[in-house]
Amino acid sequence: MRIDVLTIFPNMFTGFLTESILKRAIESKKVEINIIDFREFSTNKHKKVDDTPFGGGAGMVLGIQPVYDALISIENYEKAHKILMSPQGNTLSQNKAYSLSNESHLIIMCGHYEGYDERIRPLFDEEISIGDYVLTGGELGAMVIIDSATRVLKDVIGSDESHLNDSFSNGLLEHPHYTRPRDFMGQKVPEVLVSGDHKKIEEYRYSESLQRTKERRPDLYNAYISKNKEKK
Ligand code: SAH
Repeated sequence: MRIDVLTIFPNMFTGFLTESILKRAIESKKVEINIIDFREFSTNKHKKVDDTPFGGGAGMVLGIQPVYDALISIENYEKAHKILMSPQGNTLSQNKAYSLSNESHLIIMCGHYEGYDERIRPLFDEEISIGDYVLTGGELGAMVIIDSATRVLKDVIGSDESHLNDSFSNGLLEHPHYTRPRDFMGQKVPEVLVSGDHKKIEEYRYSESLQRTKERRPDLYNAYISKNKEKK
């Protein structure tokens, strides 16, 4: 998968792309990520990318020229799936991360300031928000998309099972985990996990996963139960 990011703050991505799982995914060519500073495409002599809004009001608005020129400079941009980061978009979910991970080429546009010149919107296929709050720019959101989509690519994390059991992947929150020591100041690891009985372990985990989802996310729990009833 290839991902091009349009931003005026390319340095924000440095640490993110040079550590841990993302770093390894890039090194092993599971994903190729290009950070493009669209300020460089500004035809303004001071490389300005924003301007005051027509009609007045607070804040600066990102203009279309540098964004358009940067976008069309990307090879095969027409065929890519183009995302505009925006608090007004559809909220990112694990399902969305899966579907984005099936794309061969993503382009992600990070806004800044008060917002976009409205004519920027139709250049993109969809708008994605990472939650109901307003950030200073789209960069953190772009990183969240890159991280969640890369994580589910084949062979990026240890075993594929690892993300198939993740919270949300099957509609439920994940079961609890334990590791050594078996007894920490009197808090013991549940017997079943050290029993070696795989069927019992699976049943225990499923029941914990259901219980946890019911307590913490009744919305997910109810959706899961009614979906399973339908199946039956
Ligand atoms: N005035 C705008 C918000 C501008 S925030 C409005 O009310 O809609 C500046 C930029 O940060 C946005 O253009 C977007 O790219 C990014 N951004 C802010 N909050 C975001 C969120 N929740 N999800 C994704 N991107 C966000």
